Amino acid sequence: MHANNENVPLWDVIIVGGGPAGMNAALVLGRCRRKVLMFDEGVPRNAVSHALHGFLSRDGIHPSELRAIARQELKEYPSVKVDDDRIVDAIRTDIGFSVTSRDGRVFFARKLLLAGGVVDELPQQPGFRELYGVGLFHCPYCDGWEMRDQPLAVYGRGDQKGGGLALEMTHWSRDIVLCTDGDSELSNQFRQRLIANGVELREEPILRLEILANTPYSASFDIVFSSGSTLRRSAFFFNTGRQQSTDLAKRLGCDMFDPKGCEIDNDQQMTPVPGLYVAGDASRDVLQVIVAAAEGAQAAIGINTAC
Ligand SMILES: Cc1cc2nc3c(=O)[nH]c(=O)nc-3n(C[C@H](O)[C@H](O)[C@H](O)COP(=O)(O)OP(=O)(O)OC[C@H]3O[C@@H](n4cnc5c(N)ncnc54)[C@H](O)[C@@H]3O)c2cc1C
Repeated sequence: MHANNENVPLWDVIIVGGGPAGMNAALVLGRCRRKVLMFDEGVPRNAVSHALHGFLSRDGIHPSELRAIARQELKEYPSVKVDDDRIVDAIRTDIGFSVTSRDGRVFFARKLLLAGGVVDELPQQPGFRELYGVGLFHCPYCDGWEMRDQPLAVYGRGDQKGGGLALEMTHWSRDIVLCTDGDSELSNQFRQRLIANGVELREEPILRLEILANTPYSASFDIVFSSGSTLRRSAFFFNTGRQQSTDLAKRLGCDMFDPKGCEIDNDQQMTPVPGLYVAGDASRDVLQVIVAAAEGAQAAIGINTAC
């Protein structure tokens, strides 16, 4: 390990975030014999999920089990260290970057990989948070199969977030009600497409969800509208937006393109800031575990080549 002064170690790479993106980057960089320090606060986006789908050879695994396997695999590589603290600040230095952990420690590295993921914004009414990951989902590719042919609701406004998701969901069920919780903001063209595809539209404000059964993939709940009417469903798919888990990229000078994350070079996950890389959900669509892991690998190869 190099040193930028007598006592302070200089890591090849610091990784902020130890989800699939960060861990796969650490794995590849460990295999390159790079000195890697990975910080992971341990609050992944899919913390509420009961099963991870769409990952070849791991379909249906509990997300925490995948994390445990990956953490165990990293122990094979002695140059990779894991720290469970949160990184709260990062600045550029002459030789690369310094980061500060929540407990006040400062670390230095030549390259910095941000892989902190995103946090979903949930509808605020009572019932949504309790249902999250059980009968409330945002991604049909993750949980649509489990809810196929069930009575489903979609939460979202506008042609893309509301109408687009509702139409997409008709691949999984023909019983779809689009709830826009107020003015739908739909174009006439999209309204016609919804009608043509048998999607019912409810624009009344939602007061709350009354949960009857809260079992993963076997939930049942009533949507209570402001008019007093109710609608019984088995799952809600929502599209209300998300935030970056950390604003470090912005602080380091990256332009952010919410919700697509940082501007990057698609081949190597490099940002316009020299030495700064972004991978996983924090970088761009598609937001899936296998894609996040692949982006971590891409970033690792880019970093190893550039180091
Ligand atoms: C309910 C739900 C179900 C899902 N189901 C599926 C599915 O079935 N299949 C699928 O492919 N995808 C699924 N996803 C999407 C999947 O969770 C994400 O695509 C994936 O987790 C992205 O990986 P990541 O490494 O980018 O981020 P994350 O997995 O979110 O990991 C980021 C990590 O970085 C840490 N972190 C953040 N900021 C800091 C900081 N400043 N310092 C230190 N640590 C930090 C976080 O605590 C976290 O541990 C689901 C998502 C949700 C919400």
